[in-house]
Amino acid sequence: MRLASQAVLVTGASRGIGRAIALRLAAEGARVALNYHAHGAAAEALAEEIRAAGGEAVALAADVADPAAAQALVEAAHARFGRLDGLVNNAGIVRDNLLLGMELAEWNEVLATNLSGMFHCCQAAAKFMVRQRSGRIVNLSSASGERPNRGQVNYAAAKGGVNALTRALAQELAPRNITVNAVAPGMIATDMSARVREMAGEQILAAIALRRYGTPEDVAAAVAFLLSPDAAYITGQILNVDGGLRA
Ligand code: NAP
Repeated sequence: MRLASQAVLVTGASRGIGRAIALRLAAEGARVALNYHAHGAAAEALAEEIRAAGGEAVALAADVADPAAAQALVEAAHARFGRLDGLVNNAGIVRDNLLLGMELAEWNEVLATNLSGMFHCCQAAAKFMVRQRSGRIVNLSSASGERPNRGQVNYAAAKGGVNALTRALAQELAPRNITVNAVAPGMIATDMSARVREMAGEQILAAIALRRYGTPEDVAAAVAFLLSPDAAYITGQILNVDGGLRA
């Protein structure tokens, strides 16, 4: 129970990696706020599953790309638990396309959700964490932030921005005893990667040293570590969870 009674908000917790993170944190004793956007029933069912296992969880709707909604989300999580020890910025989307075919909306949506959404939540959460003089922020980056694929200028730019934001914010918040790190997954078997795995599975597996896709649980374990007391002296780091993915 490394995270006993820690209050943690996980964005995009209705599915995939966010769902696994929420389950892992709850299993380690955290009280979790589960943010969702489109899939409310899934988030409510997850909250119920955690409560049935003896944990504490609440599902909260918000589009993190909307600054006011993101702020209200963080405030609601803080109000629910009376404090905010951790923020996991996991919400993300892909809108892959080659540059010449990329719609401006595809660029804007990915930047707004994956990068600005993170900024909105960090800013709102930092207000509480600075007052508490403690806090942990873990951002979901991607291998694409440093080793991008074709058709991902929007996603790679957003995740490269996540890495830079993480390093910059770590410097800024360290004096207030707040750590900021990122986890950069490789190819994880979720809805998000389904199309790419279907189209280029063999090629991708050949580039992964461990010769398997990652699971959401593989990523959740790294996030739980960074939120735990074991990671007290780690900040500004980008932790690759990619099975040894080659560039
Ligand atoms: P996923 O299965 O597609 O799930 C995405 C989650 O983000 C859902 O819970 C979704 O909520 C939420 N979300 C999307 N837009 C949102 C918004 N505007 N506001 C709030 N929540 C929003 O994706 P995933 O594979 O779990 O990915 C999670 C994170 O890991 C992302 O940041 C992604 O970039 C990163 N990542 C994934 C992989 C991979 O291979 N899967 C690799 C590297 C990095 P609703 O369903 O409720 O809308």
